[in-house]
Amino acid sequence: MGLETLKAHNIITREEYEALKRRSVLELIGSTPMVELKKIRAYTGVKGRIFAKLESYNPGGSVKDRPAIRMIEQGILSGELTRDKVILDSTSGNTGIAYAMIGAVLGIPVELCVPANVTEERKKILKAFGAKVIYTDPMEGSDGAIKEAQRLYQTYPERYFKPDQYNNPENAMAHYLGTAEEVIHQSDGKVTHFVAGLGTTGTLMGTGRRLKEFRKDIQIIAVEPSCPLHGIEGLKHMESSIVPGLYDPGFPDRTIFVDTEDAYEWVRKISELEGIFAGASSGAALAAAVEVARESRDAYVVTIFPDGGDRYLSTRIWSA
Ligand code: PMP
Repeated sequence: MGLETLKAHNIITREEYEALKRRSVLELIGSTPMVELKKIRAYTGVKGRIFAKLESYNPGGSVKDRPAIRMIEQGILSGELTRDKVILDSTSGNTGIAYAMIGAVLGIPVELCVPANVTEERKKILKAFGAKVIYTDPMEGSDGAIKEAQRLYQTYPERYFKPDQYNNPENAMAHYLGTAEEVIHQSDGKVTHFVAGLGTTGTLMGTGRRLKEFRKDIQIIAVEPSCPLHGIEGLKHMESSIVPGLYDPGFPDRTIFVDTEDAYEWVRKISELEGIFAGASSGAALAAAVEVARESRDAYVVTIFPDGGDRYLSTRIWSA
């Protein structure tokens, strides 16, 4: 297609996209630091070593910047996401913040279906980036938001670009190409166990698949909340949820179930002992990582801390 035809179809060219991205915050996505949790090891007396990748260092403040930019980029480059479209998805908060931040930089409007009980901090951040938010029934959790986004998309298919993070292979691909390579590099290839919470499952499936290719004896451990009504934002209790299309329940070597109160207790310990202000799902990831590190002296356990604590200031974690 010639330039005039591309313009007539509202296509964003690769050159235009790359010019918008260059020297913007979007170039800061990924390459997050990985730190060793030495004081947690001393405190728990576990044999193995535990490392955490601090995803709050992404410009949008969470791990979700990685899949969000990849899904949007693929949408633009395939010609599906044109200038006259609105980005629509359902999200428990962090993906929405990522879309909203990216939409602000690229000049693309964003509409998000979000359970009404997400934290005030998240609601305000979404507003700051100029996203339109449609609140759904908190009793239906993230599934209620998924259904509302599907309904909107089916009603106005020509209006929206829907990345569909639960089923879009580009979500896991962002971790396959990014997170996993960083883990291999930052651990000097020594990683023996990879522990990650399950939300869309993109982090676990994408990173895990690449790590298994790197060395097939690396153990992949999934983390789920122990019951359907839990307080670990971002994670899914699979048995009682709509299972994401990305998820292959046969893939993880093991699943560890974590109680909300234990996750919160670990969040408080992380800041006290390690000086890392982390979110609720980081506490859940650490609870599981400690269990794994307890079992083997030679374990080199890598886990993901998906976001930072400032998104949870108004929650029960810090009022206890
Ligand atoms: N923790 C938090 C805070 C999240 O926002 C998410 C994303 N839903 C996850 C964990 C899980 O990550 P994933 O979607 O890649 O499974």
